[in-house]
Amino acid sequence: MINNKTHNGAGVAKKDIEEYKRTNGEIVKSLKKTKKKKKEKLKKLSNNELSTHFRAQSESFLTSYEWRKLRLEALLKHGRRCQCCGATPATGAVMNVDHIKPRKLFPKLALDLNNLQVLCGECNHGKGNWNQTDFR
Ligand SMILES: [Zn+2]
Repeated sequence: MINNKTHNGAGVAKKDIEEYKRTNGEIVKSLKKTKKKKKEKLKKLSNNELSTHFRAQSESFLTSYEWRKLRLEALLKHGRRCQCCGATPATGAVMNVDHIKPRKLFPKLALDLNNLQVLCGECNHGKGNWNQTDFR
């Protein structure tokens, strides 16, 4: 609700301050509730639904400018050569930029150049989230 007295700059009444605090408190409360609801909603999802949810998140990460830029930096730093088996595009390999510590487990390292290595598709596919070997 908009209070004209406040907006005219004619001084803020004590009751307006209290009203503001109350509304603000309610907004904070409702935001907290939404967050909790979201968490509970995630808990209720089946494994299949969860994997769809995370896949969608993953896709938006992988298509983000920040990731693409960093990915290129990693390729420039390490070269287009698998750091595990030595395969290159010349030998028909597809290069992947891999998170040594997986994004799912270490989201804070998702955009850390020091957490990236270049792997061929085959080495990266086998590595998955269960392995955190640094092949550099
Ligand atoms: Zn390889």
